[in-house]
Amino acid sequence: MGSFSSVIGQRTAKSRIRPLLLGNPEQAYLITGPEGIGKRLFATAMAKALLCEAPNEDGGCGTCGPCRYFAEKTHPDFIHLSPQSGEKMIRVASIRERVVRDIFMFPQISNRKIYLIEADYLNEEGQNALLKTLEEPPAKAILILTAADTDRLLDTVVSRSVRISLTPNTEREIIKILKNVKNTDEKDALPIASLSKGIPGLALKMADDESLSEIIEKIAELLNSLPHISLSELLTGQFSFFDKNKDRINEVFAVMQMGLGDIALLITDQATAFLRVIDKRDNMIRMIERKKINVKSVDRASVHLAEASRAIRSNYSFETSICSMLLSIRKEFCND
Ligand SMILES: [Zn+2]
Repeated sequence: MGSFSSVIGQRTAKSRIRPLLLGNPEQAYLITGPEGIGKRLFATAMAKALLCEAPNEDGGCGTCGPCRYFAEKTHPDFIHLSPQSGEKMIRVASIRERVVRDIFMFPQISNRKIYLIEADYLNEEGQNALLKTLEEPPAKAILILTAADTDRLLDTVVSRSVRISLTPNTEREIIKILKNVKNTDEKDALPIASLSKGIPGLALKMADDESLSEIIEKIAELLNSLPHISLSELLTGQFSFFDKNKDRINEVFAVMQMGLGDIALLITDQATAFLRVIDKRDNMIRMIERKKINVKSVDRASVHLAEASRAIRSNYSFETSICSMLLSIRKEFCND
């Protein structure tokens, strides 16, 4: 762990950073990217490589003394600043003590000292306290800042650092991450990969969220049986599921869109379609044939869904929006 191979994807950032780490590193970096993208993981791999005695293309060698200390989280030349437990921000006093003053002490076991600072948790005073250090860091020190929200940072902080941007992962990469970290199987990972929009932190949270798998199951059930559900069941039992998940209706809609996408795939490419929501493939294929559901009806269903989502965002009645959507989609699925 802690090497660049443990960071899945991020090819551009890695190829930018590798030659710097192996050659003459800059003295201040700013790693940016949305929350949950893996900034800390990336910054940690950088720190390990910079402290290692024999770094290679993958970062730290993993076997030298400094790498072993690093793995045990006892490397004295690696200083990581994040808020103390129970606190929202990094204290200005910690910045002064653990960075501004400490940076002039010689490294103990590596050739340099690395400061990893989670800059989203620095208030303006904290950033100001860092400025002078960022401007003229001692030769043996490197600062690595991470930030999701660069608008909060002082221009002078941003301009003094070399910026490395992390970007959303592909669905395949998210599936690989879920498999590596959570041992999630492909079937469960597919819908999460779509929903997480390429953010590993979000995908990992979703994998732990049992209520999300319930939503996926419930939507699969609804789509599988839509033409057979009575109107009264649709407007009471099925509506109550949506009502219960009112707070996360966007996720419910996203799962439903995915389910409709599955149906469209089954119409066009039965044999090889990778399904994300629909679980009873044969059942669904029979229904598609019996009810003569075609891609156009699925497209229209998808439009009804988008309309309901828009209506709710514009504060139309939740109940009316959901019920009229369910009725319209059911109609598209009843072509017999
Ligand atoms: Zn090493």
